[in-house]
Amino acid sequence: RPMSAPLTIIGSGMAGLALLRQLRARDSARPMTLITADSGDDYAKPLLSTGFAKRLPPQRLATRSALEVTDELGAVVRTHTRVQAIDPLERTLTIGSETLPWSELVLATGAAPVRPFRVPDAVAGRVFSVNDLDDYRAFHAALEARGRPARVAIIGIGLVGCEFANDLVAGGHHVELVAPEPAPLPRLVPEPLGRALGEAFREAGVALHSGRRLMALEADDRRVGLALDDGTSLSADLVLVATGLRPRTVLAESAGIAVSEAGIHTDRQLATSVPGIHALGDAACVDGVNAMYVQPLLASAKALANTLTGSPSAVTYGPWPVLVKTPLLPVVALPPLHTPARWRLEGAGSDLTALAETEDGRLLGFALTGRCVRRKVELARAAPPLLG
Ligand code: FAD
Repeated sequence: RPMSAPLTIIGSGMAGLALLRQLRARDSARPMTLITADSGDDYAKPLLSTGFAKRLPPQRLATRSALEVTDELGAVVRTHTRVQAIDPLERTLTIGSETLPWSELVLATGAAPVRPFRVPDAVAGRVFSVNDLDDYRAFHAALEARGRPARVAIIGIGLVGCEFANDLVAGGHHVELVAPEPAPLPRLVPEPLGRALGEAFREAGVALHSGRRLMALEADDRRVGLALDDGTSLSADLVLVATGLRPRTVLAESAGIAVSEAGIHTDRQLATSVPGIHALGDAACVDGVNAMYVQPLLASAKALANTLTGSPSAVTYGPWPVLVKTPLLPVVALPPLHTPARWRLEGAGSDLTALAETEDGRLLGFALTGRCVRRKVELARAAPPLLG
């Protein structure tokens, strides 16, 4: 194993780039390589679901190109390059016919959209998932090409589906929102709070089809037809699929690293089951927790940068709530890690507080809508940490 082999990071999302930045701040000399399947541009993924309201073209979302990252951080950056295999014993990785050595390897491979239904070839060009800047460029271009407001059917009412629904309506488009659950944000908030968001959506003109499963997509002249399980059919110019994200674990798994549906398993020092290989971000399940949002991955990047520069550090996550970017009705949630004994509801109209409590009244998590979101700081102080 050559001593000069670089520390190598796979993935240029917020996790991979945050780690690279933190490493450089601690070690200016060590050779480092970043390999990424996408454009390698530095961008904040949360902004992807805010761009249409603000009429931001894709180039305004990237703060730095891959080339600027290379210059600023003194790393070799390989863009549009997919790592196909890892050999943990030889400490090499494979890209096509190339074999590259690494000294330490970090997997920051993120999470990929899941599509629980078939997309026929005839409509594939009008069906999108937006999970990185390249996806956003494609979706933005398809909307722009129409030159007038479009009818967009969004499948899925989780955080991503709801944020895009709010953003597209604010951007002047028509939105059909379809999902089998009874109310928006089913995994983040109790149903009454989800209903309050659904009401705010309806008032803003979103056609909300909750409790409805998509059965089929079909070509319909130059549009897409959507058949729902109650016999309803909808027609849209474009379809945005937001039916969930699954940690990318295939590369790790084929290298013999322990993974599950929740991600690449690591301990609190972000070490995987294989020596020399660490993981962080949406791809990683850290001591049983895969939080899939920004604050935990930033904390992980700091801890891992310390560990990889000779000061072993365990990561901790605080009681950090998720802020759902739906200005039509702001929502903040800290979902409890375990099913609570009860949810206690307070408030009226669209200003609601829901407290997840144990039998003896201890706070396990909370969800807030409307004017109640200002209670987030006070409640977070009383809630248990995500990873203490
Ligand atoms: P990713 O950004 O998915 O990056 C993964 C990287 O790995 C990519 O560069 C990819 O190309 C690369 N890769 C994968 N496999 C390979 C391979 N084999 N070879 C080479 N490269 C590979 N969080 C918040 O905290 N607040 C918010 O408001 C918020 N809003 C969001 C809005 C949207 C629309 C979405 C989708 C997410 C939002 N999140 C939000 C979540 C947050 O954006 C993610 O947790 C975070 O961006 C994940 O970063 P990551 O680097 O782990 O993964």
